[in-house]
Amino acid sequence: MNRTKKKGFLYVDLSKPMTYGDQFKLMFIIMFIFCALFTLIYLFTLIGGRGKADTPSSAEVSGTETSHAASHQEENSPVASEVSVVSEINSGIFDDVEKLSLGHDEIYKGDLILVNKNYKCPSDGEDAVSLMEQKTGSYAVTDYDVSLNKDIIVYLNQMLDDFEDVQGENDVMVACGYRSYDNQSEIFDNEVEEVGVEEAEQWVARPGYSEHQTGLVIDFTLNNDVEQGSIKYDGTGIYEWINTNSYKYGFILRYPYGKEEITGYNYESWHFRYVGLPAAFYITQNGITLEEYIDVVRTHDINSPLLIDGGGENKWYVYYVTANEDSKTEVTVPKNSNYKISGDNVQGFIVTADVDIKG
Ligand SMILES: [Zn+2]
Repeated sequence: MNRTKKKGFLYVDLSKPMTYGDQFKLMFIIMFIFCALFTLIYLFTLIGGRGKADTPSSAEVSGTETSHAASHQEENSPVASEVSVVSEINSGIFDDVEKLSLGHDEIYKGDLILVNKNYKCPSDGEDAVSLMEQKTGSYAVTDYDVSLNKDIIVYLNQMLDDFEDVQGENDVMVACGYRSYDNQSEIFDNEVEEVGVEEAEQWVARPGYSEHQTGLVIDFTLNNDVEQGSIKYDGTGIYEWINTNSYKYGFILRYPYGKEEITGYNYESWHFRYVGLPAAFYITQNGITLEEYIDVVRTHDINSPLLIDGGGENKWYVYYVTANEDSKTEVTVPKNSNYKISGDNVQGFIVTADVDIKG
């Protein structure tokens, strides 16, 4: 009855010796299972790979981490050469860096340019604006002609607002800010006529060599004591507050007492120069001049930066890059923190960068 029952293709009767047909079927089944397994494994691998496609491959990620660790331990890390180079450059002070390519002319720009009897002012009022319309009510200005670099007025306003809050006076007056080459010529010639060249040079810069031509300088006088051509501000009494605290606003007393040999000028209690907070802090705390500050910075490169600790979150790295004379200069800067580059007006660039406060 059952003899006519159709057997499935894969049916093998194991109670009897296998026929050639049965052996062939068995081989076929085994091969089919193997093929299916391989196909499955291959599909899983594909899916796994696609999940990682959007992030850097695991090799790159571990490479970056290794290079950070290596930079702290000063070891060579066994990672891709590209990553190693970065760790070599940044030498652990920044998370990540990039390179800027700067032309030689850039050394003549910035808050830290050195202008004195040896180094001529490279600009002539390009960034200066009239102070009268932008000043606050805490101080006065002699007239509309008094102008200043547009970016530093905010710091002058803050300083004299705070001075008025603390001392209750608003009689400080800005007698001079930016002074043009032509104006300086006139002043120098008049002074020479009055006292002779030698004496004149102790007080007045030759045309082209006045720091006032930068627009980064202020001469103070007092409002109620204005006399033609004379300065009444001596930085004593209640005004000592300004001379003591100006660095907190980025200003330094440019010609301090006892530094005449370095600055080339007699002590001027009224002449303030903007250099920015980090430089002003270092210069004031160490009792040095801008000339000496630049000398110090020149001994630091990105691998051994000068660390300025102004307390709290005010920490900066400062380093120097000598400029190429005939080609562009590569300047390495942090990618993820604030920085400022200034030329020194002599031979290179000063980079001042915030120190990352890592959590
Ligand atoms: Zn001055």
